[in-house]
Amino acid sequence: MYRSHNCGELRASLINTEVTLSGWVQKSRDKGFIIWIDLRDRYGVTQLVFDEERTPKAIFNQAENLGREFVIQVRGTVIERASKNPNLPTGDIEVLVKELTILNTSLLPPFTIEDQTDGGDELRMKYRYLDIRRNPVKNNLIFRHKVAQAVRNYLSSKDFIEVETPYLIKSTPEGARDFVVPSRMNEGQFYALPQSPQTFKQLLMVGGMDKYFQIVKCFRDEDLRADRQPEFTQIDCEMAFVEQEDILDTFEGLTRHLLKEINDVEIAKFPRMTFDDAMRLYGNDKPDIRFGMQFGELNEVAQHKDFNVFNAAELVVGIAIPGGNSLTRKEIDQLTDWVKRPQIGALGMVYVRCNDDGSYKSSVDKFYDETDLKQWAEITKAKTGDLICVLSGNTNKVRAQLSTLRMEMATRLGLRKPNEFAPLWVVDFPLLEWDEDTKRFHAMHHPFTSPKPGQLELLDTNPADVKANAYDLVLNGNEIGGGSIRIHDKATQAIMLKHLGFTDEQAKAQFGFLMDAFEFGAPPHGGIAFGLDRLVAILGGQETIRDFIAFPKNNSGRDVMIDAPAPLDDEQLKELHLKLNV
Ligand code: ASP
Repeated sequence: MYRSHNCGELRASLINTEVTLSGWVQKSRDKGFIIWIDLRDRYGVTQLVFDEERTPKAIFNQAENLGREFVIQVRGTVIERASKNPNLPTGDIEVLVKELTILNTSLLPPFTIEDQTDGGDELRMKYRYLDIRRNPVKNNLIFRHKVAQAVRNYLSSKDFIEVETPYLIKSTPEGARDFVVPSRMNEGQFYALPQSPQTFKQLLMVGGMDKYFQIVKCFRDEDLRADRQPEFTQIDCEMAFVEQEDILDTFEGLTRHLLKEINDVEIAKFPRMTFDDAMRLYGNDKPDIRFGMQFGELNEVAQHKDFNVFNAAELVVGIAIPGGNSLTRKEIDQLTDWVKRPQIGALGMVYVRCNDDGSYKSSVDKFYDETDLKQWAEITKAKTGDLICVLSGNTNKVRAQLSTLRMEMATRLGLRKPNEFAPLWVVDFPLLEWDEDTKRFHAMHHPFTSPKPGQLELLDTNPADVKANAYDLVLNGNEIGGGSIRIHDKATQAIMLKHLGFTDEQAKAQFGFLMDAFEFGAPPHGGIAFGLDRLVAILGGQETIRDFIAFPKNNSGRDVMIDAPAPLDDEQLKELHLKLNV
């Protein structure tokens, strides 16, 4: 038996008990005649003591030579500690060791296995198994498990069934590139790894499963942005015989349950906002509503003078930065430079100081008087002491720019509090989205999303105006879930695919299986998928999903520990009927 107890559970009530413990040497302090060793496992740390008088000499000598991260087993007696450590659950006791077995030695770890380590990101990822020994990473993985468990319990209690769907499938377009797997048995043919189990979960509804969920890996070969992983985990869900309201209700319930269970936060009904309002008020379809700074559109009160920059703009829009009038001229200039950086791309920034005496001072005083500026202040809800920042230009661009400024200022002002939770539903998304690169409409959510009732005809005349039965769940400025009511009849699906630019043949080749299934009594259905990695990170009050993934990829999509991706040898390539262009 390797252990009678773990390293986190011994208490004063067990004094005089004989125990066996196994674990890693966290650190040792050698005073010559007495040696203390902190023994660590997943559950905690227990202090071991070896002393010249009471410990057999051979064991004492062995203890002197234990290195960091050696794996050892000890037998001994629980005794009271002379100097107790109130910060440690086992801090009242120590184990006086009688027997010691070295189960394994260890090289010196390349970084310290402490809560604050000296290891950089890449080094920690290369030796992730050592990183996982550290409390912050270990606790994140345990936290993730708790969230996943709470999800499973809740959905199971609501009659959802977890069903596994295949990973080797045919491409399902969800807006990203597929990872592909060559088929050895079918020369020249490839599987795709699922971007999501979308079509399978719909087929499960046709199969009468009624309520499905799955905590499932999804794969998207996207250009990597910070904090994106090429493989990630979704809580994927689908329900039959539902309308949008049923889905929002069910998954608001799940989210509320998680916030209560995990964070002990109670949230009443989640607010809802249309996509159009979210864009108008926050310039963003995933607004962080933990703080205000709503957009104020100023076209009507800013385009009546000789200021050509504004007159020529499609949109003039501003936000009031709370207390922003305390910024110096230099700081405002720096902010202007910040929004003009190519990453944000604003052409310039106009500002208005809302002075304590109720007067206004702007960077465009030449063109606008107090009456104008007072109107701007009213529209942006600026108070005395605030600074109004105004951007102008192309509507979509300017909204994105001002949204970035809003988030930056909120971060600088400490308004994005990690332990505050502000969920909301964004609803009524457009069905289609214009893509400048391909000069075509794309499905904003995916091609299986149904248009709002009665809007199908609009597809021919005003495609951009068609709204979808699609919704996102947003938490603290992050999209944590998204879904839709699906098309469940072949004719509508065919119309949709046609509008997305598929020929009949292409539609049949790619989605024939789904359209065929729709002809065998497909029930009305809809669903949603949550990004588990991000959800866990937000509930854990942290920003980066990588810290909640056991073996994450780095920013270039590499696993630096196993060194993947990697070339294949010629033999394997040949077997897979693949030739490298050399
Ligand atoms: N498959 C969708 C996605 O991954 C979610 C859904 O529509 O249920 O975003």
